[in-house]
Amino acid sequence: MSKKAIYVSGEVWEALNRLRQAIPKRGRVTYSDVIMALLQQHGYVGGSGVAQSVEEALKSLRRAFGVAYASELASSADTLLDVISVRDDMQKLRTAIWNRFTRRVYAQCPQGHKTLLYVERASSFRLRKSERKYEEVAKAALEGRQVSVPCPVCGAESGVVVKAPSRLMSEGIVAMLKTGEEIINATLMETVRSHPIYTAWGQFVRGLGVANSARLVALYEKVEDKVHVAKAWMYVGLAPVSVCSNKCGWWGKEPARVCPRCGAPAVQVAPTRLNATKYNVEKFPVSYRLMRHMYILARYFIVYGGGSKYGKLARAKIDELTKRFRERGIDQKLARAKAANATWRWLARVLVEHAFAVANIVRGIYQGPPKPILAHGAYIPPLVDDVEEALKQPPVLQVVEWYRKHLGIDIVQYWHSI
Ligand SMILES: [Zn+2]
Ligand SMILES: [Zn+2]
Repeated sequence: MSKKAIYVSGEVWEALNRLRQAIPKRGRVTYSDVIMALLQQHGYVGGSGVAQSVEEALKSLRRAFGVAYASELASSADTLLDVISVRDDMQKLRTAIWNRFTRRVYAQCPQGHKTLLYVERASSFRLRKSERKYEEVAKAALEGRQVSVPCPVCGAESGVVVKAPSRLMSEGIVAMLKTGEEIINATLMETVRSHPIYTAWGQFVRGLGVANSARLVALYEKVEDKVHVAKAWMYVGLAPVSVCSNKCGWWGKEPARVCPRCGAPAVQVAPTRLNATKYNVEKFPVSYRLMRHMYILARYFIVYGGGSKYGKLARAKIDELTKRFRERGIDQKLARAKAANATWRWLARVLVEHAFAVANIVRGIYQGPPKPILAHGAYIPPLVDDVEEALKQPPVLQVVEWYRKHLGIDIVQYWHSI
């Protein structure tokens, strides 16, 4: 990943330059240079006891940096997406490192066979089938109890041993990555905390948080037409497209029965890269990068979102779709996989619509939900989890009022009913 420059306002830049002159140094000024210069100016030479004024100076400098950087971010959705991606990478790396250094449980047989039975994981949800078989005995061994199992190779009564790698290094690296994530969260917070997507909705949705709100903010700031959410859906590949079953390469945004180019039946598919290849379409006008962000966002609710209204809706949707696929004679495992795939796309569409709705209501440009959805009577208005806290905020009240006035929906009552 390329190193990103930190953008600062003219005022901050001037202050930096003054500071740079204060210490003899060649090359670019870095953040730590500035901190060092500040410390030296205040007579700090190391050790303990940083003067209060220095701490205050540091705080104001961090604020200046944060705000300058954040306003630069808001003007560039791509930079914002870069920052979120770095955070995603760090999170993935942190989990991977942690998993690599977890304890392992082996069967040690008198014949010399040593078989890995179980790898300790953050959640038993991720256990393999072969590991489940040894879950009980492994847990006993991890608690330090003496247990034995038949050797998986020869069947002989075998002792169970635990191998615990040194956690010193992993803990250090994990702590470092966690600090990095916190710095990024603080930066993202500077960007989203004044955005209506966050103030009027996101901060009251369990599971949306700073990073997931920022994904929606980036999308909202990136699309030019903020009034027609269908265009945003298309842009992130969430709206289905029509393609030719004869694979002649035609595709269209509107639903079609036949291909206007060759007359073969048309089919509705998701505008993925896979489907572009499959149906000979050169390219769908989709940002796959943003589509990935929407996937991460929606999947979060499907996997961990049990405690939120969106999570509940997602789970109900998966069950409903699985049932429907089963009725068509599809086996349980495949039906569930197909349902999960359809559900993340459905939920991402709902979340994008809600983000655009609240932002547009606060900005006074909302034209209402897409007509076809309203016509089907299945429209879900924006949801919040922390209802009491939400109702103390003027932007939220603005949203509540809009739905009451224009659609006759009491969304507060709706929130209490889920
Ligand atoms: Zn053996
Ligand atoms: Zn065709």
